[in-house]
Amino acid sequence: MPSGKKKILIADPSLELLKSLKKNTKAEKFTIEIAESGNECLEKIKTFEPDLLIVDLMLPGMHGLEILKATKNNQSMKKIGVILTSFHPMVQNYHSAIKSGALYFLEKPFTAANLFHLIQLFFDGTLAPAPFPQKKPEPHYKAPPTPPPKIPTYLKLWGTRGSNPVAGSEYVRFGGNTPCLEVRNGDTLVIIDAGSGIRGLGHILHDHEAKRMDILLSHTHWDHLLGFPFFYPIYQPGREVHIWSPVGFEKSTKELFSDMLAYAYFPVGLDDIQSSIFFHDLRDEQTANFGNISISSHYSFHPGPTLCFKIEMNGKKIGYVTDNEFLMGNHLPAKQAEKKSSIFEPYESLISFLSDCDLLIHEAQYTDEEYLDREGWGHSSISNASILVKKAGIKKWIITHHDPRHTDEELLGKHEYHHRVMEDLHHECLIQLAYDGMMIAID
Ligand SMILES: [Zn+2]
Ligand SMILES: [Zn+2]
Repeated sequence: MPSGKKKILIADPSLELLKSLKKNTKAEKFTIEIAESGNECLEKIKTFEPDLLIVDLMLPGMHGLEILKATKNNQSMKKIGVILTSFHPMVQNYHSAIKSGALYFLEKPFTAANLFHLIQLFFDGTLAPAPFPQKKPEPHYKAPPTPPPKIPTYLKLWGTRGSNPVAGSEYVRFGGNTPCLEVRNGDTLVIIDAGSGIRGLGHILHDHEAKRMDILLSHTHWDHLLGFPFFYPIYQPGREVHIWSPVGFEKSTKELFSDMLAYAYFPVGLDDIQSSIFFHDLRDEQTANFGNISISSHYSFHPGPTLCFKIEMNGKKIGYVTDNEFLMGNHLPAKQAEKKSSIFEPYESLISFLSDCDLLIHEAQYTDEEYLDREGWGHSSISNASILVKKAGIKKWIITHHDPRHTDEELLGKHEYHHRVMEDLHHECLIQLAYDGMMIAID
């Protein structure tokens, strides 16, 4: 026999809340059913046929808005009043609910008295939606101070290809630009090498505030120089571009740059360049300081005067050696070669220069097999470079100056081979392959 009481269905994931509402003395005036999930709620809407539905937005299995819409789109259920509840009302949900026909959006937690008050208003026919509650922080709330920004200190490899730039689908993973390294500490910027990678760096520098830029050249082979005419900041009046280069034995760096920018090769000569260009000598065992960046030089083993570098910043030391034929002429497997103490003598100074580095960026351009007929070309085999890494006690090695013939696939194969050589040497070291655009945070 129907009781004549109004029927309310309350759907909520909290069984405790449901029970406490059912027990409330005000509940006696109504017939109350409960549902704990979306499916149960839909089922009970059909069987129980409530006058009023109170449904939580995050009902397990079905969103409250979905249930609201299902109710309002059904001819026989349309007349059911719907109140939505939620712990975290969001303005979009609020508007969507009211637009879809909800009568009220009740924020949780709510008191039973408040809910039964709304229920009463509904049955009196006077329930109307309240505006969305705008929240403001408590007046006594004081946000913790924002920490001062950290000075960005990083290295970015703009070019990681040796010898000549390459392009094509087989090079997309590691890239094809020749060497250029951005060394950055806040506004202080040092660039090592001006290979084709420097072009991209130049384009992001046009708004760089610092007037001065320093470019250190490891040597003046084409792959380390050919991006210079395409380096945007040299065409900006007011810039000071300082070029540091090892003392050559044929021509001064300035003469080399004048030659490179002869009209026969390029439409802008050295004297036409709008920025101020300064040339400086760089020598073995020299340390140059740029703000908080300090860079020391050491000879590497390569045709012509060639330097490698040790960068110190933020308390970290990073070796950067792009062109270096370590253990020239050695074709023994790494494990055997490392025991031949006599072959290391010429390299002791370089090993000790690199031995305190937290990270070494060093080439290993040839496989051992390729090195058989590339002896004296100025680049290391994988085995020989690995021995240097072990001798200098390096724990992190990033391999750069990839051979232009090595495709992405071949480089991945080389990476595997590197791991095997390092295992043979019983030396634990993290080995990564450099790629164009690789960034290394120094913190
Ligand atoms: Zn090179
Ligand atoms: Zn070279």
